Amino acid sequence: MSTRPTRFFAVIGHPIGHSLSPLMHQTAMDALGLPSSFVAREVRPELLSDDVHTMIEEGCDGFNVTIPHKERIIELLDEIDDEAKRIGAVNTVVARDGQLRGYNTDVYGIARTLTPYEQDVRGGKAVLLGAGGAARAAADVLIHKFGVERLTIATRTVERGEMLAKSLRSDSIVHVMSITDREVNEFVRDAALIVNATPVGMSPHVDASPLPPDAAFHEGQIVFDLIYRPLQTTLLRHAVASGATTVAGLDMFLHQGAKAFELWTGKQMPMEVVRKALEERLRV
Ligand code: NAP
Repeated sequence: MSTRPTRFFAVIGHPIGHSLSPLMHQTAMDALGLPSSFVAREVRPELLSDDVHTMIEEGCDGFNVTIPHKERIIELLDEIDDEAKRIGAVNTVVARDGQLRGYNTDVYGIARTLTPYEQDVRGGKAVLLGAGGAARAAADVLIHKFGVERLTIATRTVERGEMLAKSLRSDSIVHVMSITDREVNEFVRDAALIVNATPVGMSPHVDASPLPPDAAFHEGQIVFDLIYRPLQTTLLRHAVASGATTVAGLDMFLHQGAKAFELWTGKQMPMEVVRKALEERLRV
């Protein structure tokens, strides 16, 4: 009988039923022949501390953290890396030698996804839709890694956008407006890059879009939607129809996952095998 040690990883959230992280990581672990399992754990907010302690006692080697625990998990950790500290959110935890260390691999996922477009974006203007956790990671990348000259944050709750703008501490011009303000379209027209970090358009509300159908997209622009379910959102369909270059959320999902995988296993995720498995699941 085999006595190979089995490592155990998880994703925690509430709700967690639709997470694709188990499919992504189990596919990668199986493809590399790693004797590891990856499970989804439903963790209610009031049980976060108890459930994390139980998982660690059960021998968990690391876990992903998703909505609504990305901020509150921080108080349970022994250390967090600089990026996660700057963003104020953790999406990956490594458990090693009795210590829990937190990372934010969304920052890496966004930066890596936008790297092919860096020359188009650097020093240019960008519009960011939303001001939640993912928007914080996107703003950090746009300002601190890509050096955008002007960032317009268009969001539903303007106060939340203002808090994000303040937290960026940058020399770039950052301004905030309501996503329903008609003037947003002028900034969209002017922008080299538009990023959707709201859930508007996500399955099952696939006909919704955070911007109107006649938004001023045009050739030479990049439109990046963080949503990956569906693979192509209504926002991206409108952008393509206007000649813009589009980037779907699946790339970010893969890259943030690959970084977490490397932190846990020390190995590169087999990207094409994993991409195929995710695309197959997302197409049904
Ligand atoms: P979040 O923290 O809940 O933030 C959501 C943001 O969207 C908030 O600013 C919220 O505004 C705004 N919003 C929500 N509903 C809206 C509506 N109907 N109209 C206008 N604005 C609305 O969520 P998050 O974690 O940042 O996630 C945002 C999106 O990114 C989700 O679709 C998520 O699936 C996606 N995501 C993708 C990846 C990936 O790997 N591809 C990773 C992380 C997140 P209020 O402040 O007014 O609530």
